[in-house]
Amino acid sequence: MKHLKSSILLFTLVFVLFLSFFHVSSASAAEETQAPIYYVRFSGQGLNMYADFTLSGTPLAVLPDGTYVQILLGPLDSFAKIRLYGTNVEGYVDMRYLKRLDAIVYDNDIYTYEEMVEDIAQLLVRYPSLLHVNVTGQSVDSRNLYELVLGNPSAPESILIHAGIHAREYANPYLVMEQLEQCLDLYDRGCFHDKSYQELFENVAVHIVPMVNPDGIALSQFGESALRSPELIQTVQSCYAYDLATRRTKSSYENYLARWKANAHGVDLNRNFLTGFGSSVNVSQASYAGYPGIVPFSEPESASLGAVTLLCHPSIVINYHSMGEVAYWNTVESRYTAINTEFSNYMLSLVPYKKMRSGSASGSYLDWIYSGDNPVCSITFETGNTDCPFQFDQYPKIWTQHALVVQAAAEYAYTH
Ligand SMILES: [Zn+2]
Repeated sequence: MKHLKSSILLFTLVFVLFLSFFHVSSASAAEETQAPIYYVRFSGQGLNMYADFTLSGTPLAVLPDGTYVQILLGPLDSFAKIRLYGTNVEGYVDMRYLKRLDAIVYDNDIYTYEEMVEDIAQLLVRYPSLLHVNVTGQSVDSRNLYELVLGNPSAPESILIHAGIHAREYANPYLVMEQLEQCLDLYDRGCFHDKSYQELFENVAVHIVPMVNPDGIALSQFGESALRSPELIQTVQSCYAYDLATRRTKSSYENYLARWKANAHGVDLNRNFLTGFGSSVNVSQASYAGYPGIVPFSEPESASLGAVTLLCHPSIVINYHSMGEVAYWNTVESRYTAINTEFSNYMLSLVPYKKMRSGSASGSYLDWIYSGDNPVCSITFETGNTDCPFQFDQYPKIWTQHALVVQAAAEYAYTH
């Protein structure tokens, strides 16, 4: 009986060892199949795959859009070592042309407030420890105003990125949401200029206000029926009457709304800040564009962006506007021209936009941050090169120009 017991014990031990061996080998195979799949996009003629990380010489292969790959190493700056999915073929490619197959932030047409809200919720589920979400107020038409914090919210340095302050410029909220998801996805493996993303975002909190003006964006995308409040619809109709009467527009009502820049009160949020408020104003009442409001910070959307800025003390601010492929970086009144010269030149070495001359303060967000007590570096990118709102065909170039802006700004904040 004792002998039988030992035999059973021995048999059980061997079986368990066999199982555990099987488990280990099947786990490593499973790990490989579970590693995220990326696909090639925006390449046009196909994405060149090279034999080494310099991405030079004769390509090993040209990967058409839609090719599935897995990342073996990187990204280091913009290159990554990849393997073609389901094969042993390996090589190096420009990472900016890869997108994760199960990406949360995805759009190929018009990125709406509702899509953004859903994406934020899903990003929080996938990256609970790397992303913090704050609702910082409500728009005049009762949409939530969001601040998203990538990385360590208590980091010694902060940078701030905002988009969508002007309604018709709604390609940029999608851009910053894609930038955010990319940094979250590659948080554990990416490097920029020899700094890991982990080190960068542990030391630099990235505060993103992805859609400063959600009501105006809904109005530009879908017309007056997008507004929830009947009073605000009346306000918008009054704006049209005023703008027609003063010859500020000749468009049909539908086209007029598509070109809307202001919030749902008809206040241009980027004229509603304190510094230079009301200067050079030729719009005396609510309008699709250019009206600064009665007093600075009268609008919840500008007040919210102002509050986020004061609370996080950013050393770098990136402002996304459209259009023209140009960059504003300074005002004649700025207190920080000296530090901002170096920073803006650095950013423009990555994003090849034309650098514009300094203008005078006129109540914009940028004018206001340059007047503050905290030294700040800032650049305003004007994306795209057709009239707003863009068709999606503008987006691939915008993405490849701006895919590394967050990493570069964080690295600059960390090392300066
Ligand atoms: Zn703008």
